[in-house]
Amino acid sequence: MFRPLSLLIINISKHNVASQIKYSTAILPRLSSEKYNIKRKSFGTINESDINHFRSILSENRVITDESDVLPYNIDWIKNCRGQSKVVLKPKTTDEVSEVLSYCNSKKLAVCPQGGNTGLVGGSVPVFDEIVLNFSLMNKVISLDDISGALVCEAGCVLENLDNYVRQHNLIMPLDLGAKGSCHIGGNVSTNAGGLRLLRYGNLHGSILGLEAVKADGTVIDCLRTLKKDNTGYHLKHLFIGSEGTLGVVTKVAVHCPAVSKAVSLGYFGVNTFEDVLQLYRNAKISLGEILSAFEMADNRAICSTVKNLKLTNPLEDYPFYVLIETSGCDEEHDSEKLNRFLSKEMESGHIIDGTVTSEPAKMRTIWNIRENIAEAGLHDGYVFKYDVSIPLNNYYDIVLLLRKKLEGKYTNIYGYGHIGDGNIHINVTVPEYSKEVCDMLEPYIFEQVAKLKGSISAEHGVGFRKPQFIHYSKDESALRLMKDLKHLMDPNGILNPYKVLPDV
Ligand SMILES: Cc1cc2nc3c(=O)[nH]c(=O)nc-3n(C[C@H](O)[C@H](O)[C@H](O)COP(=O)(O)OP(=O)(O)OC[C@H]3O[C@@H](n4cnc5c(N)ncnc54)[C@H](O)[C@@H]3O)c2cc1C
Repeated sequence: MFRPLSLLIINISKHNVASQIKYSTAILPRLSSEKYNIKRKSFGTINESDINHFRSILSENRVITDESDVLPYNIDWIKNCRGQSKVVLKPKTTDEVSEVLSYCNSKKLAVCPQGGNTGLVGGSVPVFDEIVLNFSLMNKVISLDDISGALVCEAGCVLENLDNYVRQHNLIMPLDLGAKGSCHIGGNVSTNAGGLRLLRYGNLHGSILGLEAVKADGTVIDCLRTLKKDNTGYHLKHLFIGSEGTLGVVTKVAVHCPAVSKAVSLGYFGVNTFEDVLQLYRNAKISLGEILSAFEMADNRAICSTVKNLKLTNPLEDYPFYVLIETSGCDEEHDSEKLNRFLSKEMESGHIIDGTVTSEPAKMRTIWNIRENIAEAGLHDGYVFKYDVSIPLNNYYDIVLLLRKKLEGKYTNIYGYGHIGDGNIHINVTVPEYSKEVCDMLEPYIFEQVAKLKGSISAEHGVGFRKPQFIHYSKDESALRLMKDLKHLMDPNGILNPYKVLPDV
């Protein structure tokens, strides 16, 4: 039975991404270079005089060389990749970044830019001994224009901190994701992160007004404007948005922050079939129009394993599919009337079997927590093969069924969830521990299937270290050639994030 607004939902504790990262030397992931059989390129090798030079630029305590202190910066969030870096540098200013890069370029020392290290494709950690350039100390807000909504800040600001800050001025960040408590805005820009608000506010190519970046040779590129319109030549900022630290490092960004919505409601529904999920999405767009701000789905196994693995409580019974619909507007009465009319119709037609709707912030948080924790829950099964693909909506869920059939008897769990409104599905395949046999069954099979459907092998997580060899499934030869030309032009020595994004010739 559908319950109208403000059903009491049992408390679910908030899971902060950062607090879950634990490192135990007993369970270190294998070195990426060995696991994936990669050969080191002919970069320079860091020595004591290089370290001393970095100390002269940054001061002693911002050059980390102790092996156990460096370890967390070598391991990615899903504990799949492990690099062998010997040094982590923590600049505080653009000038310091510029000096460091200029020096590294002259000595051909490879560099791995790193934000909050929440990336899911191994791009944020070194493969061999690349120097980790970590932005966590570049974390200042520079200015906020609360009329235009232009926020200017340093690259190392944590997304959730920025959201809390701009909310004090009746604004919100145009993006939101499960890793918000740890990821940096510089990392978000460098991965062109999508997330839960993309349906409403579009991707970062639209919301980033300007940025400052440093090229591999230390040149500072100042495109830090806050204008909505600026058609003066090439839009260089776009080169850095989504290039995953391979063309330059982002040091400052200007983001357009939309006004906070005064009336927000969140519905969480049980649905019988995937066809019903699609019908519900189509009807939501028509009936809710401008107040529809998120439309997310998760299958039964995604929700049930999250609830079980993280000891959460599902406010709904078991259903084949779950849908989250968020509305955001500025007139509570108008919006809830619209939402209730839509929901009554969808209940009657049977697209919704059961559900709950709330506009109380704490209860909405509780529901979002279930959805946002799906990414983390799979880690509790042992190892997760994570895929993040775009597929035309009619075939959106087929891939999950195909994989369950293909991998029968070889997995703990396979489930699909994601941003229906963006045609983006996340597929998690969990196993007790990493298995090359399962990996070989999955790859390139899953990318071949996605390519057949004219989808993208990476919807929002990027290419990173894990997917360069598969990029051709989504980009043709001419596009790849131009990407390589750009890389050569901007980073002729290839020192920025090597082994990532582009496949070797
Ligand atoms: C629980 C969870 C949920 C997630 N949900 C989503 C989601 O909904 N949508 C989504 O898109 N992603 C999601 N992600 C993936 C990840 O959070 C995003 O890719 C995020 O944008 C990465 O930011 P970061 O600061 O952690 O970057 P990192 O992981 O540190 O780095 C990511 C890449 O950007 C580069 N980089 C980082 N900072 C800079 C810089 N200043 N200059 C140049 N290059 C840089 C790195 O070299 C690397 O290639 C999720 C991750 C987790 C763990």
